Amino acid sequence: MTKWVYSFGDGTADGQADMRNLLGGKGANLAEMSNLGLPVPSGFTISTEVCTAYYDNDEKYPEDLADQVSAAVDKIEDSVGGRFGDKEQPLLVSVRSGARASMPGMMDTVLNLGLNDDTVAGLAVQSGDKRFAYDSYRRFIQMYSDVVLGVEHHHFEELLEILKEENGYILDTDLSADDWENLVGQYKAKVQEELGRPFPQDVNDQLWGAITAVFGSWMNQRAIKYRRLHDIPAEWGTAVNVQAMVFGNMGDDSATGVAFTRNPSTGEKRFYGEFLVNAQGEDVVAGIRTPQNLTKEAREEAGDDAPSMEELFPSVFTQLVEVYHKLEDHYRDMQDIEFTVQQGKLWMLQTRSGKRTAKAALKIAVDMVEEGMITREEAIERIEPSSLDQLLHPTLDPDAERNIIARGLPASPGAASGEIVFNSDEAEKLAAEGKSVILVRIETSPEDIHGMHAAKGILTSRGGMTSHAAVVARGMGRACVSGAGSINIDYREETMSVLGQTFNKGDIITIDGGTGEVMLGSVDMILPELSGTFGTLMAWADEIRRLRVRTNAETPLDAETARKFGAEGIGLCRTEHMFFDADRIVAVRQMILADTLDEREEALAKLLPVQKADFVELFRIMSGLPVTVRLLDPPLHEFLPKTDEEIDDLAKALGADAKKLRHRALQLHEFNPMLGHRGCRLGISYPEIYEMQARAILEAAAEVSKELGETVIPEIMIPLVATEKELEILKGKIEAVAATIEEESGASVEYLIGTMIELPRAALQAGQIANQAEFFSFGTNDLTQTTYGISRDDSGSFLEDYITQGIYDTDPFVSLDRDGVGELVKLAAERGRVTREDIKLGICGEHGGDPSSIDFCETIGLDYVSCSPYRVPIARLAAAQAALGMTRVSEA
Ligand code: ADP
Ligand code: MG
Ligand code: MG
Repeated sequence: MTKWVYSFGDGTADGQADMRNLLGGKGANLAEMSNLGLPVPSGFTISTEVCTAYYDNDEKYPEDLADQVSAAVDKIEDSVGGRFGDKEQPLLVSVRSGARASMPGMMDTVLNLGLNDDTVAGLAVQSGDKRFAYDSYRRFIQMYSDVVLGVEHHHFEELLEILKEENGYILDTDLSADDWENLVGQYKAKVQEELGRPFPQDVNDQLWGAITAVFGSWMNQRAIKYRRLHDIPAEWGTAVNVQAMVFGNMGDDSATGVAFTRNPSTGEKRFYGEFLVNAQGEDVVAGIRTPQNLTKEAREEAGDDAPSMEELFPSVFTQLVEVYHKLEDHYRDMQDIEFTVQQGKLWMLQTRSGKRTAKAALKIAVDMVEEGMITREEAIERIEPSSLDQLLHPTLDPDAERNIIARGLPASPGAASGEIVFNSDEAEKLAAEGKSVILVRIETSPEDIHGMHAAKGILTSRGGMTSHAAVVARGMGRACVSGAGSINIDYREETMSVLGQTFNKGDIITIDGGTGEVMLGSVDMILPELSGTFGTLMAWADEIRRLRVRTNAETPLDAETARKFGAEGIGLCRTEHMFFDADRIVAVRQMILADTLDEREEALAKLLPVQKADFVELFRIMSGLPVTVRLLDPPLHEFLPKTDEEIDDLAKALGADAKKLRHRALQLHEFNPMLGHRGCRLGISYPEIYEMQARAILEAAAEVSKELGETVIPEIMIPLVATEKELEILKGKIEAVAATIEEESGASVEYLIGTMIELPRAALQAGQIANQAEFFSFGTNDLTQTTYGISRDDSGSFLEDYITQGIYDTDPFVSLDRDGVGELVKLAAERGRVTREDIKLGICGEHGGDPSSIDFCETIGLDYVSCSPYRVPIARLAAAQAALGMTRVSEA
């Protein structure tokens, strides 16, 4: 015989805390609290296996379930001393849903089940309080009708309102016993009217109606949608908890409340919570009456007059504090508890690990280590790496006033205020003058990178969470609100209008990338706190992790930010981003448009000192830490102007023929630039470009080495290699440059030459390529594109279909595809190591900041991950978790 039903209460239980898969979270913890000897009203849990069996078997229950339920009800009766459906001593129960993880969409709790026209009279006699009895009955009819029968609340609320109005009552407490009795009659008539059948009077029908409603709610649309979003399998099922009622509405010595053992928003170790006198469960959160504070301290801080529980029920409060210590010590985590006081006696109704903000999570974890409650490793494991994002950006002062003018998607966290600017060049110009700007675009494209970089925040009227603006902003750590559709942007007039108001270039707005709000004017901000508990936890993570964490950075600002966040070097410096600066782009274009080698070299000569200066600055900031510089990667046409007007301007600037320019631009046009003349292929065709870059890198390294008094060893990285030969040729050119510099300076130069592994062929040929390469950096963005044969920028139109149909678990550009791309990475690492035992291995690209991908990097033994500056702390923590062997499912 299968055991479907698990009883609890009176200091024992069939179940326990670690049975949450079978009993659901609520049921397992009710059992555990019983086992701990805490006062828990007796009850039983129908297991999640019943839910599964029910759906596997055409929505029919296992045969022996009814008997087991009935026996469990008997057990409650024995414990409580009442009888279910009895006219004199009625037992009332609550029916509560409870899945493994608490889940919105599941059925609401039904209280006071077991009341009918007969038992209500018994309850009145038994309690000596008719008003209480009928108040409970009307609550039950309303709840049961709403939750189980589908007759909505408002029907009943209207009737209550009318009754109050007719009698001139203001508060519910003004109603007498007869008023409630009268209302119960009206409620029942309403149910009859809505359903064409009476409100169920048979208590067993009531019970099974509620049980079936709980199981039914497992398959309602909201629950299904939630499960899909959170990767919860339907097979998990929900449990049902049936439990003897205790009454917080039995007079002024009764109450109900919720409490946290520590403050869930700050993490402070202080008892925190609220309660209501003479009320039932839902009342506290329903907002009908204002709840009172639990502690005197909290009441005084809030300046409240209503007495705290500590003052009103001192002995119950003392008991509650004991329970709270017991629960925290037992679960070794902050608990969120629900309790009821019936005529001076405390009853525990729920406990669970409390939800908390990222800030509170850090503080609680660190405090608990210091209190000796948990280990450092446990503290590390308890923090969701991506939640740190909330802490790294400036945020709006919660007390500041805000004038919200629009809402979009919370695309990239953080808040930013600044002047509205409608184009990227201008954003860059104003930022250079020291102004804060918000770049406002209908949508952004790769040409906006410099403007996005310069801006404090980005606002778009079109595009989703994976639009260009959103992805790039997250990578850069810029605040971004995308897809604020109510905003109308006019580039020509340089205005944006919303809600009938028009705003001009230069007007100040504030965006909150964590909520999607757009506000008028500037709003006060709070800066991130990187010391304190954050610093402590990160230091523990650093002790535990094996993987090094570097950053992807090319600007001094990003490099500095990354160092502040704990980066241990640069894993990817994309030199082309340096080419877009206004003062260089002309020389870059001149180089691209050159007809002859001489002309090209002339342009390159102009670029050499600026590139060198860039590297000098980066090497200084990284003061001795490794820096990987990638030579020019994108196809050349990306640097050329697009419109006729811009081409004419350029022609003028260069003193060249516009027609010729147009022709050259046309020549450079490619059908598929991602697979075109780019990466090392540029170096093969125009070696002088790579030679110039190599010289800039090596001279800069020599200069900074002298300054620091220690050797800076730059890592020169050649992109998009597919064959050993490509690398061999280009390596030869760089070595020649190095030899010349040595000759010129009389000093030796040290450097490493390596490659990005971003093509499947390169991964397969890694053994050969390692003959040339001293390091590999896995460029998994492009490797994912080329392995799947999918262009990331074009994947938006179908990726969603692939994810909803379960073809992909997650977006492979967010979380590394272990089975395909990951296999290639693993194989390349192995083959590379066979050829060159000490080859340095790292990963750059967005996966380097994704916890699940970082876990993969740990398992295959890479040396480092490299990610955008704002993800560095996330990567440090994720690397520590990976070292602890903790696997996280993707957070996408
Ligand atoms: P949720 O999952 O939404 O928290 P619960 O099942 O915890 O729902 O029920 C909500 C509230 O109902 C509880 O906080 C508690 O106050 C009240 N409640 C549930 N069962 C009982 C009971 N047996 N006696 C008294 N109140 C109860
Ligand atoms: Mg609850
Ligand atoms: Mg690439």
